[in-house]
Amino acid sequence: MEVTSVQNGIIIDHVPAGTALKVLEYLNIDPATTKLALIMNADSKRYGSKDIIKIEDDKDIDLDVLGFVARQATVDVVRGGQIVEKKQPNLPEHIVGVIRCVNPRCVTTTEPGIKQMFHLMHTDRHEYRCDYCDEEARF
Ligand SMILES: [Zn+2]
Repeated sequence: MEVTSVQNGIIIDHVPAGTALKVLEYLNIDPATTKLALIMNADSKRYGSKDIIKIEDDKDIDLDVLGFVARQATVDVVRGGQIVEKKQPNLPEHIVGVIRCVNPRCVTTTEPGIKQMFHLMHTDRHEYRCDYCDEEARF
């Protein structure tokens, strides 16, 4: 078992380099009020470089949202300084209210109060499109 600097909490590893703060925002985790450490642009054998988020807190991570914004990420659950569980993010078929559609003519842009909804278009390419206008999701 790998020993980490987190005692009881979680580690979100393999976050795409430079996106850790965005990922926290999407996960509704406030860095100002959460005990956490960010490691940006760490070396990654698999991806060249990556970000790592270490949270010393028993946060519930929404694995749907994580899969939507950072599919390659992994979640380690740490107890007593040891990784006791590894979780993979989900690749949700449908996701509501996480990001905004970037199409300026989309009904969700022009009409207030419409929920932002995206559906999974291609599993392999990890491509999501807006339910209303078919614009590809961009993070
Ligand atoms: Zn749209």
